[in-house]
Amino acid sequence: MDFETGYQMTIGGRGVSGAASIDVFNPATAEVFANAPDCSRAELDEAVATASAAFPAWKAMPIEERQALLRKCGEALLTHTEALARLFTREQGRPTDAAKQEIQGGAAWLISFSQMTPPVHLEETDTRWIETRYVPLGVVCAISPWNFPVMLSMWKVAAALAAGNTMVLKPSPFTPLCVLKVGEIFREILPPGVLNVISGGDELGVWMTSHPGFAKISFTGSTATGKKVMESASKDLKRLTLELGGNDAAIVMPDVDLDEIAQKIFFGAFFNTAQICVATKRLYVHEDVYEGLRDRLLGIAKAIKVGDGAEQGTVLGPIQNKRQYARVLELLEDAKKTGLTVLQGADVPEGGYFIPVTIVDNPPEDSRVVQEEAFGPILPMLRFKDVDEVIARANASEYGLAGAVWSKDVKAGIDIARRMETGTIWVNQNLELGPNTPFAGHKQSGFGVENGMEGLLEFMVPQVVNVAR
Ligand code: NAD
Repeated sequence: MDFETGYQMTIGGRGVSGAASIDVFNPATAEVFANAPDCSRAELDEAVATASAAFPAWKAMPIEERQALLRKCGEALLTHTEALARLFTREQGRPTDAAKQEIQGGAAWLISFSQMTPPVHLEETDTRWIETRYVPLGVVCAISPWNFPVMLSMWKVAAALAAGNTMVLKPSPFTPLCVLKVGEIFREILPPGVLNVISGGDELGVWMTSHPGFAKISFTGSTATGKKVMESASKDLKRLTLELGGNDAAIVMPDVDLDEIAQKIFFGAFFNTAQICVATKRLYVHEDVYEGLRDRLLGIAKAIKVGDGAEQGTVLGPIQNKRQYARVLELLEDAKKTGLTVLQGADVPEGGYFIPVTIVDNPPEDSRVVQEEAFGPILPMLRFKDVDEVIARANASEYGLAGAVWSKDVKAGIDIARRMETGTIWVNQNLELGPNTPFAGHKQSGFGVENGMEGLLEFMVPQVVNVAR
């Protein structure tokens, strides 16, 4: 298969080039290197119609057969890991070794969901026999963002298809290519119409969420867009899963071993150039270890190479797109203009969307860099003295996605974790997500659940058969 050219949509099991196209940029050079189809309304209608036509047979297929096909999809991704990872670096910017982990992660999700079977509950009395089982919803609309384009798309594909739904999937206009190629790979495996992959601008997302042919929307992206998606879904009561923004706090207690945790904390904040929904975005550090941790983090920031992910030795790539680059630069300018202490790591190349790793040294709690989700390499470090006070500061956010606690006293760490108002809290680690563990944002970070049995059941509804005896 050619991964360098020929990016087509998959509609009804066929490759569709589309009449119009969108440009795809390499963020390391800020230059266009490929085009993707710009899906028309008629092509969207066709995708929904073929997904709808494929639904009855896919739903009726014995679950073991569906599971076997999903496993094959996972295995097929693994055979194409190298080529997909190279393409991933060009469109997304992340260094190729780390890009491989994303493709392998997508495969792991497909394979794990191929082993998940929804429960059936029986209730029997002298007078009744009641069976509750779960049935799929119909055609699912899946919309994914640019920061983890393959992985977050596969979270949706794995769970929705395992549950017996069919799907129309739209990746971000900034990163459509790998997901289009995944659609092409799966064309050989899945029955036509079960998985349709289309590409286009944000407008296509609007057409999709208001399309009457969908039974459910599974959306990952910003909180602002999530609210629009919810409004659109309300028109015909489409089911919804929203995985949205976060402003995750990490709390570092005074008993930590700084040499042991500094690298982990650094990459928990800056991996993927800090473009991770569950990255540490506010780092609260006890005053006894504040300077020690700050100096170590800055040391790492000065030692690593930020550059083109296709080059040997690059650890962090560019910001993924021009819009996000402008937003992060503006936030950085605001920090400098308002007199905050800004500490920066190694110099970055010119030409692409590069920003040096930046630590903001103990800014006020109400500064923009603390209050807003940067989604770029600007990390505010904040000093604290008292545990109750720091938990209150960590919780004073409209978001509630994830967080972390660092302490040698694991029991104390768990106690703090339980007081945090987020869906996931890590103790002495971060960024650990898995196909069998539910992932659900609290507050304005989300609505519904992905992953685990809860994630599978989000793509199903209970159906009760109640028999008189
Ligand atoms: P975004 O909301 O701009 O776009 C996400 C997707 O929605 C894209 O495919 C886009 O084309 C589409 N879209 C845009 N406007 C739309 C509309 N009005 N209706 C329907 N679809 C529309 O988000 P982004 O900039 O791609 O991603 C970054 C954000 O995503 C960050 O806030 C990040 O925290 C969040 N995110 C959350 C998770 C999570 O699991 N909670 C994971 C990754 C990213």
